[in-house]
Amino acid sequence: MKPAPFRYVAATSLAHALALKSEYGDEAKFLAGGQSLMPTMNFRLARPMVLIDINGIDELSGIHLSETAPTRIGAITRYRALERDAAIAKTFPLISEALPEIAHPQIRNRGTIGGNLSHADPASEMPAISVALRARLRIQSATQERWVAAADFFLGSLTTDLQPDEMLTEIELPQPKPRTGSCFLEIARRRGDFAIVGIAAVVTLGDSAQCIDARLVFCGVGEMPVDASEAASLLIGQTVTDDAICAVAASAQQMIDPGGSVHATADYQRHIAGVLTERALTAANRRAHHGQ
Ligand SMILES: Cc1cc2nc3c(=O)[nH]c(=O)nc-3n(C[C@H](O)[C@H](O)[C@H](O)COP(=O)(O)OP(=O)(O)OC[C@H]3O[C@@H](n4cnc5c(N)ncnc54)[C@H](O)[C@@H]3O)c2cc1C
Repeated sequence: MKPAPFRYVAATSLAHALALKSEYGDEAKFLAGGQSLMPTMNFRLARPMVLIDINGIDELSGIHLSETAPTRIGAITRYRALERDAAIAKTFPLISEALPEIAHPQIRNRGTIGGNLSHADPASEMPAISVALRARLRIQSATQERWVAAADFFLGSLTTDLQPDEMLTEIELPQPKPRTGSCFLEIARRRGDFAIVGIAAVVTLGDSAQCIDARLVFCGVGEMPVDASEAASLLIGQTVTDDAICAVAASAQQMIDPGGSVHATADYQRHIAGVLTERALTAANRRAHHGQ
């Protein structure tokens, strides 16, 4: 398949890209890694009049880690750069653990974190992780800038809070508290496929090894990341035991409403969500004890 005709413009700066988006609005699309946009254009599911290539905008790229301030990741940072970053692996092991599950190396070489979050595929891993890590997203237009919590950014399947003249320019991750452990798990039909069910779990322990924070976010079981942290909050204030984790899993299963697909029935997804919750929370709690 071939895309419908379009005009291609390589933006020379962020201001240039934003000015073009403000001029063309919904008629224009940003071209980041192209790994989701090009297939949809080839199938003519998307027919933008103008493609604004943002790959040459250096200020949109890079990982900025500091021990005292939140971590900032530029929107066109490639998955592969995140996957290979030792500091990301140390500070945000949840990201490093999930990345090998995302597509294949060729796709991760091109795909960007900003493109992935903006595309907002409900089965995609990184939207769930951004919610679990309490990320904030920097959104800019030619005239304004605003910050949105990842939890408020995803509005539905392939739908976000982005307005027609806006770009997601940066992802900000708060510094994890000491004694935080995390775990990402997913079941997919084949390695590299989108998740049938995926889960990001984060557990933080206090000085007496009691849980002081617990988060649980699913992908693949709804129209957007499904935050089941309310279920995980059953752990707060207590020592995390197997029984307590089982109770969280039962509660999380009730909080999701999976739609099923050609690959899995809704009942199967619900069952797997419970199994993954138990495994992910057990691992996250163990890692929190070791300060990971
Ligand atoms: C075979 C295959 C398997 C895949 N498997 C997975 C998987 O398992 N998990 C997964 O998560 N993904 C998967 N993907 C998708 C992949 O991760 C994409 O790279 C990603 O979803 C989109 O990122 P991109 O940088 O390529 O964005 P693009 O394709 O360039 O853009 C996607 C959309 O976002 C918009 N956009 C891009 N950047 C911005 C921005 N900064 N601000 C505002 N809008 C923007 C574009 O205009 C477009 O509408 C797969 C893709 C393929 C082809």
